[in-house]
Amino acid sequence: MHPAPEPTPAEQASLTAGLDFWHTQPVPRLGLVSIQLCDGPHGLRKQYTSTGFAPRSVPATCFPTASALAASWDVALLAEVGAALGREARAEGVSVLLGPGVNIKRSAVCGRNFEYFSEDPHLSARLAAAWIDGLQSTGVGACIKHFAANNQEHRRYTVDAVVDERALREIYLASFEYAVGRARPATVMAAYNRLNGTYCTSSRELLTGILRDEWGFDGAVISDWGATEDRVAGLAAGLDLDMPGFAGRGDADVLAAVQSGALPRAALDRAAGNIVRLVERTASAREPGATADLAAHHALARRAAAAGTVLLRNDGGLPLPPTGPIAVLGGFARQPRYQGAGSSGVTPHRLDNLWDELTARTGPDRLRYAAGYPASGAVDEALLAQARAVAGGADVAVVVVGLPETFETEGRDRTHLDLPDGHNALVSAVAAVNPRTVVVLANGAPVLLPWLEQASAVLEGYLGGQAGGSALAEVLLGRAEPGGRLAETFPRALADNPVHTWPTGPSTVEYRDSVFVGYRYYDRAGIEVAFPFGHGLSYTTFAWTPVEADVAPDATVRLTVRVTNTGARAGSDVVQVYVHDVESTVYRPEQELRAFAKVHLEPGRSEVVTLALDRRAFAVWDPRGHGWVVEGGAFELRVGASSRDIRSTVRIDRPGDGVALEPSRYDPPEPPSGGAVDRPGRYTLNTPMGDLRHPVARLFVATLIRLARASFRSTPDSPMVAILDGLLREAPVRALPMITEGRLGLRTARVLVALANSRRPRLRPPPAHPLVDQGLKQVS
Ligand code: BGC
Repeated sequence: MHPAPEPTPAEQASLTAGLDFWHTQPVPRLGLVSIQLCDGPHGLRKQYTSTGFAPRSVPATCFPTASALAASWDVALLAEVGAALGREARAEGVSVLLGPGVNIKRSAVCGRNFEYFSEDPHLSARLAAAWIDGLQSTGVGACIKHFAANNQEHRRYTVDAVVDERALREIYLASFEYAVGRARPATVMAAYNRLNGTYCTSSRELLTGILRDEWGFDGAVISDWGATEDRVAGLAAGLDLDMPGFAGRGDADVLAAVQSGALPRAALDRAAGNIVRLVERTASAREPGATADLAAHHALARRAAAAGTVLLRNDGGLPLPPTGPIAVLGGFARQPRYQGAGSSGVTPHRLDNLWDELTARTGPDRLRYAAGYPASGAVDEALLAQARAVAGGADVAVVVVGLPETFETEGRDRTHLDLPDGHNALVSAVAAVNPRTVVVLANGAPVLLPWLEQASAVLEGYLGGQAGGSALAEVLLGRAEPGGRLAETFPRALADNPVHTWPTGPSTVEYRDSVFVGYRYYDRAGIEVAFPFGHGLSYTTFAWTPVEADVAPDATVRLTVRVTNTGARAGSDVVQVYVHDVESTVYRPEQELRAFAKVHLEPGRSEVVTLALDRRAFAVWDPRGHGWVVEGGAFELRVGASSRDIRSTVRIDRPGDGVALEPSRYDPPEPPSGGAVDRPGRYTLNTPMGDLRHPVARLFVATLIRLARASFRSTPDSPMVAILDGLLREAPVRALPMITEGRLGLRTARVLVALANSRRPRLRPPPAHPLVDQGLKQVS
C-alpha cells in the first residue's frame, strides 16, 4: 500500500483561493475535483457562466425570502425548505449553497433585511440551524453568513463596526453560535466589514479564537466575495478560501510568505486541509443522477409563503366573502414583487401572480381589476380615478401595495420606511370608497402604514417567492391560514428606530445601542410600536392555560402551557417565552425571547406545549471574565403571543454560578466622532474607490462604472443597475481584481493607490510579505 500522496505547497496554496467566481481549484494529481458554490439562500442561483454577477441563472424554485420564512416561526418548515434547496443544488452539481444569512436586523432600513431572519438572535439561530440541517441532509454544504456584525449595506466593504463585547456576544454572534454548534455548517462566510478595527477576513480572534477554538467549528471559512483584505493575513487568521479566485493569481505571494516565515506553514496546511475535507464532505452531493421534483418544490414554496404571511390587523375584512364582487387594485397583483435584488436573486421556474390565482379560484365573474399606480410608484390621478370606480362597485376591495424592487436591495440601505406615494394614495383612495378594504403588503422589511386605521384588514405577504401569488390567494379566501408572526418590530416612525437617531460616521459605525436591538430597544425606551415583535392574528381563536414551571435538579426550567383551538377553523399559534431578570447587577433588556413553539391544531383540539429553558437562557456575557454568567435570583418568565401580548407569567428562583459581575449601567455615549474618510497621502488598498480624490483616479472609477453599466445592456431593468454606481464607489481599491473579473490585478490596484496619493507609483510589490501587509495600510 502506498500512502496517500500529500499536496505540495504550491498545490496547497492553489486550494486556498477560487478557480473563478464559483469554483474551487482542482488538484488533478491527487484526484481532487473542483467543486461549485452558488448563492443562496432562498433558491439556487447557478449562473450559466463562471464569471461575476450575471442577472440570469438556471431556473430554480424561488422560495420566500428569509424575512418571510422567519415569520413562520416554524423550524420543521425551515428544514423542509433547506432539504428542497439541497435537492435542487444536487441536481445541478452544486456542492455548497451560500446561505443562510443570519445577520441581526439592527436597523429597519438595512437593504438586506429581506435576506435575514430576525432582530432576535434566539429565533434567527433556531431557524438557521433547521435550514442547515435540512440542506445538509442532502449532502450539500451550507455557508452561514456574513460573519460577523455585517448589519448595513452602506459602505459595507470597509465600514468598521464598533461593537461592545456584550452586544457582540449576546446579539450579533449569538445568531451564529448556536447554529454553528448545533447544525455544524460545512462552511462559514467571513464578512466584508471590519469589526472593532480589524477586517473580519483578517481577524484571528473571530475566525480562530471564537469560531474554532470556542465553538468547535470544524469546517472551512470562506471569504465573502472580494472581502479578503490580504490573503496571507487571512490565512494566518483562520481564513481558508479566498473567493472569488483567478486560477492561481496571488498563490506566489502565499508561497513567498511561507518561505520567508511570515506565514506559518501550519496555517497553509490547515487551510488546504479544510478545503480537501470540504470537497470530501460534500462528495455525496455530486453523485450523478440526482433530480429535483420542481412541481413538489413549488407546492412547498406555496405552503412556506402562506406560513409566512402575517395578519397584522383584521376588523372583519378577512377572509374574503364567498360570494359577491371583489375589486383587486394595485399593479403588484399582476406583476408580483416576490424576491429581493442582489446576489440572492433567483430565476424562478414558474411565477404565480395573485390576479390569475384568484381568478382560477373564484372564476372571472367576481373579479375586477385596476392598476392604481404606475410601475414607478408615483401618484397618478387617472389611475387612482379608475381604481376608485372599480373599488366603489365591489363588496370588498383588495389593494396590493409594497416596495418596488429598487427600494430594497443588497448594496443599498433605505433612507426611509415609506411606501411609494402612489401606493399610499391608492390605499387611501380605495378606503374612501369601500369600507371593506383589505391591504396586502409586498415588501421584505418593515414599512410605515399611514392609512392603517382606514383598512379593515392588513396582510403582510412579505416577499413570498415564486408561489407567493397562489399562497396569497389561498390565505385571502380562507383556504389557508395566515400562519405568520412578526420576526421583527414594525415601528410607527423611522425616528423611533434607535439606529436612525444615533448617527454613524462615514468610515465607522458605532453600535451605541449595545444590546438594545429591535424590541429590546423599544421596550427599554417605552416606545409604542405599530406592530410588536411576535405579533400576528389568526382566522381562528386559541385559549391558553396559565403557564406552569418546573425547575429540574440540574436547574433546567420546564414550562408547560395547554393551547386549545377554540374557533371553527384549523390554525396554528406560536407560544413565545420571554425571560425577565427581576434584579440584575448589570444592565439587561427588559425581556428576551428564550424559547418558542409552534402548534398546529384542528378546531376543538388542544395540545400541551412544553418549553425548556437551559442555563444559557438566563446568562449574560461577562466582559471582565469573558464568559457566560448566570446571576442567581428571581426571574420572571413571560409567556406571550407577542412581545407585547403576555398571557401569563411565573416567577422562579434560579441558582447562579457564584461569579460576581461588575455593576454596569447603560448610558448611551455622546454622539460618535464618526471616523474620517481617507485623505490624499493616506489612501490604502482598503480605501473605497469613490473616496479617491485624484482626477486620474476619478476618471478611472467613472470608466469602470460606464463599463459595468454596459455589461447590463441586455437587462436594463435589472435593479442592480440602480445600485451599480454606489457599489463600485464603495468597493475598496483591492477589489479591482474581482470587479474586473481578473483583468486587473493587485499590482494595478497598488499603482492606483500610489497615484491617488500623488507619489510615484511603485510597480513592484515588496519582496517579503509581512503578516499584515503595510502596503494595505498605507502605500509609501
Ligand atoms: C454577498 C454574499 C454572496 C456573494 C456571492 C456577496 O456580495 O455579500 O452574500 O453570497 O456575494 O454572490
